[in-house]
Amino acid sequence: MCKYLYNCVKNHQPKYQKIKRGDVLDINNQSIANIINAQGDSRFVIICEHASHFIPSEYQNLGLNQTQILSHIGWDIGAQALSEQLSKLLNAPLIVQTHSRLLYDCNRPPSAASAVPEQSETTIIPGNTNLTPAQKQARADSFYYPFHQSVSDFLDHRQSKTNSIIVTIHSFNAIYNGVERDVDIGFIEDLDPSWSKALTLATEQIPGIKGAQNLPYSAFDGVTHTLQMHGTNRSLANVMIEVKNNLIDSAPGQLHFALLLDKLLRENLN
Ligand SMILES: [Zn+2]
Repeated sequence: MCKYLYNCVKNHQPKYQKIKRGDVLDINNQSIANIINAQGDSRFVIICEHASHFIPSEYQNLGLNQTQILSHIGWDIGAQALSEQLSKLLNAPLIVQTHSRLLYDCNRPPSAASAVPEQSETTIIPGNTNLTPAQKQARADSFYYPFHQSVSDFLDHRQSKTNSIIVTIHSFNAIYNGVERDVDIGFIEDLDPSWSKALTLATEQIPGIKGAQNLPYSAFDGVTHTLQMHGTNRSLANVMIEVKNNLIDSAPGQLHFALLLDKLLRENLN
């Protein structure tokens, strides 16, 4: 196991098989991490941990209905499509997680209660309640470790690995717990605020869009786990970008924000 993974599994048989770098499969031969545009020569490497709402059939939708799974609790609406557009514009590699965060939130360490959430906003997740430690470990083995191993392996072998910049792309709901969020796009840092600050300042020059630093979340909410593992721990620059999901829930919105982020990222590259 890679030095960037904590608590490497020693006494458990992982429920995945490693076929080749960047192609880690679960027990149904469903890839855990897809690497798109792997040869992209941009300094940016885009990661989208909440890209998918897919739940394999053996989990019986975790006791939820399809409407609940397709809502923002199951995935980051629009984030993968936006990331794919941005990957093309920047010619940057993109790594996407291919399963719902309700199975395992790959932006959380196994020690976090929210890694396998029993409740998301106001929705109880029946298939996640009262799991035994072994069942939680099995979720981490199935999703968390193979996903981050894929990211680590990719970064280990990347030609421009010493100056890559890690960008994670997420989306957030306009209303959370009944409160409307007064921000369109947020730039969040792990430890180094260089990129989050620069991107927030640059967004202030764009009419009609409200940008903010460390909103609607910040590192204090535990949302920078991926940045820490693959950015900060490797001394690579990093930033998390959160876009309001009703602005990127259709193709025109996704392209609009991809063009905007392409410009912002390129213009702030030294
Ligand atoms: Zn997210």
